[in-house]
Amino acid sequence: MKKELEKIKKEILDELENIKSGQALEDLEIKFLGRKGELNNILKKIKDLSNDQKKEIGRFANQVKSEITERIEELKGAFEKKEDSFVDVTLPGKKIKPGRLHPITQIQRELEDIFSSMGFMIMEGPELESDYYNFEVLNIPKDHPARDMQDTFFIDKKDKDGRYDTVMRTQVTSIQVRAIEKYGAPLRCIMPGRVFRAEDIDACHEHTFYQMDGFMVGKNLSVANMITLMKEVLAKIFPGELKMRTRPGYFPFVEPGIEIDVSCTICGGQGCSACKNSGWLEIFPGGMIHPNVLKAAGLDPEEYNGFAFDIGVTRLAMMKYGVDNIRLFNSGDLRFLEQF
Ligand SMILES: [Zn+2]
Repeated sequence: MKKELEKIKKEILDELENIKSGQALEDLEIKFLGRKGELNNILKKIKDLSNDQKKEIGRFANQVKSEITERIEELKGAFEKKEDSFVDVTLPGKKIKPGRLHPITQIQRELEDIFSSMGFMIMEGPELESDYYNFEVLNIPKDHPARDMQDTFFIDKKDKDGRYDTVMRTQVTSIQVRAIEKYGAPLRCIMPGRVFRAEDIDACHEHTFYQMDGFMVGKNLSVANMITLMKEVLAKIFPGELKMRTRPGYFPFVEPGIEIDVSCTICGGQGCSACKNSGWLEIFPGGMIHPNVLKAAGLDPEEYNGFAFDIGVTRLAMMKYGVDNIRLFNSGDLRFLEQF
């Protein structure tokens, strides 16, 4: 029986040396090592041997089997490498799908075009901002209750009075005084960018989101100028008639503050989840720039005035494309994003 095993071992190893392909190797493996293979047929006979022989032959059989298996694995590896390096140059190429701009980026660029055509400059500012530009110059002194309107990420760095003096900006309005300091008045400017709030995330809140603020400073400007400007912008984004209404609102850096709402385009004013069933969407909060802000920027409030507004970029995108759930924009779902 030992001879039989030696014979089959030699036979297999000889055949293995002449193997030319992975497929032939597989066939050979089944022929010799498979459940009905030739090696197994011999091993089946072991049970008829005496106990001593069983031990000896059994050990020898295992040795033969593992030698053969090892050689087969070696050859398999070699064939795989060969097959990997083979390139069929006649195969058609894989198509790469062209990417596209996110709907919020699209609406942001559209807004930038509209405002640029009206003589507004586009200015960006730092995301890590000083407490001074983010709050103090905007008429929100330290310990002012208006600071509670925004949950702020403070950076672990204190000034000489032991107060935190650096924040992740909570609003792009922080760029306003920087812009006036740099370019003076008169000035028209929009300021797009990312802002941060220490919010718990839910259907309507995110800790990081996009804003676009704008302002105009000059002489003898009024709320009427602001409303006219917003009407023009809306008409460019939504050709056709949109209803608009104004309400008083409170923001520390404007006086008086106003909210400009437009009729909900998603439900046509009937009420839906996007407009909280009111039929109106608040998209341009703003007002006349507070004299304290102008003073902080180095302007004389007796000589200059201006208005400032915030543009709800995400809201506009929802209205323009008829999207009723804000979370879809950040979902990363290609089925949604590919529609724009
Ligand atoms: Zn609605």
